[in-house]
Amino acid sequence: MKQMIKILVIEDEKNILSFISSVLTSQKYQVISAVNGRDGLSQAASQCPDLILLDLGLPDMDGMTIIKRIREWNSTPIIVISARIQEEDKVQALDQGADDYITKPFGNSELLARIRTALRHSSQFRTDASSSGSSYHSGDLTIDFEKRLVTRNGQEIHLTQNEFKIIALLARNSGKVLLYDRLIEHIWGPYSENDNTILRVNMANIRRKIEPNPAEPVYIFTEIGVGYRMAEED
Ligand code: CA
Repeated sequence: MKQMIKILVIEDEKNILSFISSVLTSQKYQVISAVNGRDGLSQAASQCPDLILLDLGLPDMDGMTIIKRIREWNSTPIIVISARIQEEDKVQALDQGADDYITKPFGNSELLARIRTALRHSSQFRTDASSSGSSYHSGDLTIDFEKRLVTRNGQEIHLTQNEFKIIALLARNSGKVLLYDRLIEHIWGPYSENDNTILRVNMANIRRKIEPNPAEPVYIFTEIGVGYRMAEED
């Protein structure tokens, strides 16, 4: 029998906890839960979950502290679930080591999609070909990482070197949001100006080249104030 994937849900609101539990159980995930941070941390250590869903607003502890503590000793994917919508919170949670976030209220299909993505990527930040496939496919778009070739409907799209680096990094992490700062650091190096303008200019050019309608992107989505997320592979 296949081993069930175990998900730890740390959430103090009973109705949300029971909603998540029933969605996950119906998809044959094994669910364990905690209604406060202390119990959550202890279960994260003793139960070895495959993934953690974490509410940021807990009665005894700030969710950011929990992410930090867990990251001191393990790399289990963490998806933050939160009613907080401030961009700073999203950025901070991802910076502390969370893999993704989902804002309340959310539906079951969105929740399940985020979980699948996080499990597939685990918490590795993928930057090289050895850690993923050699190509990316979504809709009419194909990226061949080794040949550095991007095509749409079989037609080659000419990208500059930096444009290719950006799209390749996003594609290798498809489905995950990548922070502006991380992208800038990866493309232009750790001493680059912490300024999004050059990234935005490059993204506008990439979208003009790859998107059927750059005003309504279908391949690379903007997470306002946070970063970019590339469409999942088909
Ligand atoms: Ca809460």
